[in-house]
Amino acid sequence: YVVNFNELERGDLLGRGQFGTVTRMFHKPSNMTFAVKMINDDLMEGSDSQNQAMDLKAPLKMGDKCPSLIRFFGAIHAESAFWILTEVMDTSLDRFYSKIFALEMKMTELFLSKVAHAVVAALDYMKQLHMMHRDIKPSNILLNYTGEIKVCDFGISGFTTNSVCKTFKGCQRYMPPEKIDPSLTGEGYSIKADIWSLGISLIEIATGHHPFKDSPGLLGLIKVIVSKDPPKLDETKFSPELCEFANKCLVKMPDNRASCSELLDHEFIKKYLEIPNDLEYIKKVMDEVKKDKVDS
Ligand code: ADP
Ligand code: MG
Repeated sequence: YVVNFNELERGDLLGRGQFGTVTRMFHKPSNMTFAVKMINDDLMEGSDSQNQAMDLKAPLKMGDKCPSLIRFFGAIHAESAFWILTEVMDTSLDRFYSKIFALEMKMTELFLSKVAHAVVAALDYMKQLHMMHRDIKPSNILLNYTGEIKVCDFGISGFTTNSVCKTFKGCQRYMPPEKIDPSLTGEGYSIKADIWSLGISLIEIATGHHPFKDSPGLLGLIKVIVSKDPPKLDETKFSPELCEFANKCLVKMPDNRASCSELLDHEFIKKYLEIPNDLEYIKKVMDEVKKDKVDS
C-alpha cells in the first residue's frame, strides 16, 4: 500500500507533546488505524516542502521483530509537517501511573518488572542495530488493555537530537550525568544513557513522582545529577530485587552501569518471567485513564 496523507481520516486526539500532536487516523483503503504524530517542519532543518506519499513497506520496521517496540509504518511529509505513523496503543505510562496514585491503588512490583523487562528488551534490540533511544521516559512507554508494554519514539529522538531539530531541548530530567560531565565516560555518550533514563523512570513510576521534581531550574537539576548521589528507592517500601535493579541502572559512571544483558538476567526480571501481567488490574486503571480528557 501507498498511504497518501489525504486518504487519512482524522479520529480523536491521543496526546499532545512538546513538538506537536498525536492523532488517531483511519486509512480506508488498507482498513488500518494509525497513531499519527505530526511534527511541524519549522522545527526541522533541511526538510523540503513537497508533499510526499508513503510506502507502507518502509524499511524501518523494527517493531515487527521486537515485541516491545511500537510498530512503525513509515513517515510522510505533508502540509508543512512530518507525519509519523505507528500502531495505536491505549495509553502511556505517565498517565497510567498518575492514575494509580490518584486512585490510591498499589503500584505492583509485577507490573514494574514487566515495564523494566519491556524497556530493556527494546534497548537490547536497538543496540543490536547500533541504535540508542535517547528519550526513555514514562510518556514514551505505551501500554494497552492486553497488557502489552511498548517503547515508542525511537528514531525520532535520533534525528531530533542530531542538531537537526533546532529547538530541541531534550527531556533534561532523565538525562544521565555523562551528558553533563563528559569526563565520566570513556567511549562517549552511549546506550548506557538510556539505562540511566530507565532507572529514573522506574523510580518515578514506583513512587509516583520524579526523583528530581524539586530541583529548582535547569542549573539546580544539573547540580543534583552530577554532584549528588544517584536517587534510590526506599528499601523499606520495595523489594531488595527492585531496589538493586534501579541502583544498577543509576550508577553515575556509565562504564560501571549495568548493560542490557546484565539487566535481562537480573533477579527482578527473572522472578516474574513466568507470571503474566495482571490484566484485571490494568483494565481497572485503564478504564479510569480513559475517562480523562486527553488534552488536559
Ligand atoms: P511526550 O512523549 O513528550 O508526551 P509526544 O508528542 O511524543 O510527547 O506524545 C504525546 C502523547 O501522545 C504521549 O504522552 C502519549 O500519551 C500519546 N501517544 C503517543 N504515541 C501514541 C500511540 N502510538 N498510541 C497512543 N497514544 C500515543
Ligand atoms: Mg513521546
